[in-house]
Amino acid sequence: MKEKYDVLIIGGGVIGCCAARELAKYNINIALLEKHEDVACETSKANSGMIHGGYDAKFTTVKGELSALGNKLFDELDSELHFGFRRCGSMVLAFDDEDIKTLENLKKNGEKNGVETEIIDTDEILKIEPNINPNVKKALYCKSAGVSVPFEYTVAMAENAIDNGVDFFFNEEVINIEKKENVFYVKTKENTYKADYVINAAGVYADEISKMICTTDFKITPRRGEYMLFDKNTKGLVNSVIFPVPKAGSKGIAITPALHGNIMIGPDAEFIDDKEDTDTKKEVLDMVWNDCLNMSDKLDKSMVITQFAGLRASSEDDDFVIEESDTKGLINAACICSPGFTVSYAIALKLSNILKDAGLKMEKRDDFNPNRKPYIHIDELSREEFNELIKKDSRYGRVICRCETITEGQIVDVMHRGIKITNPDSVKRRIRAGMGRCQGGFCLPRVMEIIERENNIPYDKIPKNNEKAYILNDMTQKGVK
Ligand SMILES: Cc1cc2nc3c(=O)[nH]c(=O)nc-3n(C[C@H](O)[C@H](O)[C@H](O)COP(=O)(O)OP(=O)(O)OC[C@H]3O[C@@H](n4cnc5c(N)ncnc54)[C@H](O)[C@@H]3O)c2cc1C
Repeated sequence: MKEKYDVLIIGGGVIGCCAARELAKYNINIALLEKHEDVACETSKANSGMIHGGYDAKFTTVKGELSALGNKLFDELDSELHFGFRRCGSMVLAFDDEDIKTLENLKKNGEKNGVETEIIDTDEILKIEPNINPNVKKALYCKSAGVSVPFEYTVAMAENAIDNGVDFFFNEEVINIEKKENVFYVKTKENTYKADYVINAAGVYADEISKMICTTDFKITPRRGEYMLFDKNTKGLVNSVIFPVPKAGSKGIAITPALHGNIMIGPDAEFIDDKEDTDTKKEVLDMVWNDCLNMSDKLDKSMVITQFAGLRASSEDDDFVIEESDTKGLINAACICSPGFTVSYAIALKLSNILKDAGLKMEKRDDFNPNRKPYIHIDELSREEFNELIKKDSRYGRVICRCETITEGQIVDVMHRGIKITNPDSVKRRIRAGMGRCQGGFCLPRVMEIIERENNIPYDKIPKNNEKAYILNDMTQKGVK
């Protein structure tokens, strides 16, 4: 820990990690505080992973202003950071005249945001998407929309920021902030961090962080969205992201061809009180299912391998709050609901400009390294390349996760990229061991063995995802190991 940082970022979600990576381009000291043991442990691990085209965010809002740029930045970011991204396109389906009017309005709004779309008719829709309900009349087609994986993206940002000198501190929950003589004192249970500027990127808790030090005129109400995830055998059911026409402030329940081949359906949108409640409910998932059947009756429930939920940081204004607060030097990146993943890097650029305007001296470094060494993906290698890899390191020949074909060599590699990996969920978010049909039933004990060996954490002290959720207890007494 440094005596004092120029910028302290609170929150290791997609917004905090993009800000850390962008600010690392300058000659300033930066630290990031995250209350969990890893990055992407809250909203940034549980969303649709869509890179929205940007036609739907109202052109008068901050969301609208950032949408097209956010989408466009993905090509360059992926070429530098290798997190994985595909422009698969998206369609909004219209089944009657009322729906068609909605498509026309979305198209007009998109034009104001600088986003190109076209309205296509039934023949063309079914040529691109043969498994869609043939009663569809028209669709708004946006070729620039895409899919990526929000947690792999967040990890990539964090690893590159760390490589470029940003200090990340985990298990550090901010509990109070004071400002004395132009310096912020940011307190966690164990430590006090000093900084000239603070960026509040605390997700659904950003209103509570803001209240610690300034007058806060926004309130965050979590809005839960639930999903069902299908086996990779469903690959090809749809090629683009398929939406119904939007209703009641939500883009609607979609069918998404996720980056790694699974199909995903969801999310619904339900306001709740509890900022920790990511439970899924049978009645909600039944509704998600029925809504999607209207778009394609080719969905097969026996192919569902898991369900999950995420919380949107919704505010009354339904727009992002990205500005310096009334406490000079405290910058809020709050109420970042959808499409926060898509526009995350555009937000980082905006935060950098706000810091400049607020008086932070920012000179570009000439030793910033924008590139991150890609993870090895066995399925992208030729037989010769794979054999060569095993010759160099035999751990690449030992399959740990059978469903996703992930080897010991890959797991060990992702464990030594700057963030200490303490649990199987962190491995899963990086390299997909445990992400397949058996959901870790086979590989979990093996992943735990690797964590024990590589990071010297006793087997029975390895939690699933945080210190509250141990996988095994009292093993020595029970003679398990
Ligand atoms: C159901 C759903 C679907 C979505 N779909 C899409 C989509 O397809 N495309 C898209 O572009 N966007 C989508 N989004 C929006 C996107 O997921 C969010 O905008 C984005 O993840 C928000 O990132 P964040 O960093 O602000 O928040 P988070 O990821 O929640 O990160 C905030 C971090 O702050 C930490 N924190 C909180 N309090 C403290 C504290 N006191 N001290 C230290 N750390 C703290 C948390 O632990 C957390 O890690 C969706 C969201 C949801 C919920």
